[in-house]
Amino acid sequence: MAKNPRDPSPLVQVEHYERYVGAEAVERILEKARPLQDLRVAHVNSTYYGGGVAELLSPLTLLTNSVGMATEWRAIQGPPDFFNITKKMHNALQGADIHLTPMKATIYEEVVYENAVRNRLDHDRVVIHDPQPLPIVRHSRKRGPWIWRCHVDLSHPEPSLWAYLKPFVEQYDATVLSVPEYARELSVPQVFFMPAIDPFSIKNREMHEAEIEERLRHHRIPTDLPLVVQVSRFDRWKDPEGVVAAWRLARKEMPCTLVLLGNMASDDPEGQKVYEQVMRHKDERLMVLSREDTALVNALQRRAAVVVQKSLREGFGLTVAEAMWKGTPVIGGNVGGIRHQIEDGHNGFLVDTVDQCAARIVQVLRNPRLRHQLGHRAHETVRRRFLLTRYLEQYLDLFNAFEA
Ligand code: UDP
Repeated sequence: MAKNPRDPSPLVQVEHYERYVGAEAVERILEKARPLQDLRVAHVNSTYYGGGVAELLSPLTLLTNSVGMATEWRAIQGPPDFFNITKKMHNALQGADIHLTPMKATIYEEVVYENAVRNRLDHDRVVIHDPQPLPIVRHSRKRGPWIWRCHVDLSHPEPSLWAYLKPFVEQYDATVLSVPEYARELSVPQVFFMPAIDPFSIKNREMHEAEIEERLRHHRIPTDLPLVVQVSRFDRWKDPEGVVAAWRLARKEMPCTLVLLGNMASDDPEGQKVYEQVMRHKDERLMVLSREDTALVNALQRRAAVVVQKSLREGFGLTVAEAMWKGTPVIGGNVGGIRHQIEDGHNGFLVDTVDQCAARIVQVLRNPRLRHQLGHRAHETVRRRFLLTRYLEQYLDLFNAFEA
């Protein structure tokens, strides 16, 4: 069933995915949703906009409603102090240093408590995302299972921070991590499943050539040379400096334009600083754009000769799946969730260094046949493994496991 944009109720239904995932998968999902009808579900994270978690929750909460569960989405609020602390925690969970003083821990716990007071979380299933709202479980009046869904790469957390957070995690009934490498020693069950994309969103839906051209012209992006593109929050884990260095090497052999498109998330106070650092490299062949324009993301991911996602840590990396869905070859950092999306040499390339990244850019730019092959396989990978129906189904399995 195709989604009709003029439909008066334009919400995407599971049935709309039939053309991508087949009738059997749709039937199976509806079957799994049946025992959960009218269940009240809440997802809680720390921002309604910016970054992969907001990107995921936006369509996931609607799709879960469409299969019969009353699903809400709440974002916790806090002062800049709070988000400075939680950003440091986020970095430290991925291995950076942290000095969590008792005062900072108090601010963290108090702000979370205030959010617990404001949000009555008496739902049948509660899913708390990432470290920002984690301690809210302490103030819950559990009506059903609570799940901690951690999106970051937990393989090497800073030990003192993990020792502090672990007792909160163990008050949950289960945790969901993106891949098995992130498993920790915990007294609660750990389930593994990766995020996915919404093929009907403005970011991922098909776009006509004319629409693509219009977006690129609007932002004055030159298209006379092949485009190398990275779309990412301005964050040092995304290694924008490394991307610039790789592009500088690559352009000596293959002239090309680099576009770094980024945005800021309201829960990420470091974005502005990283943006200003990257801006220093700007020239007529290196565009650094900070725009809130979802159709531009779509246009760039489609028009790019190659998309780079040279992350140094990456819980999953939605931008990788987004570009792959559009049939664009992706060169990704050989880390975290990117390794589970790209099979090196088959549907894209994985790289460990700036030199490797530069060499792969040149190779892909020189070889249209290779580009086509990688892109075709990349699209197939996402169709089979990274569309939102698969993600929804894994949540249904998890919710059903608690019914048994
Ligand atoms: N994004 C965007 N505009 C930008 C930069 C990023 O819309 O300028 C989106 C991107 O398309 C993706 C999400 O933000 O959907 C980032 O998710 P990802 O998992 O790649 O990284 P995170 O920001 O969660 O670390």
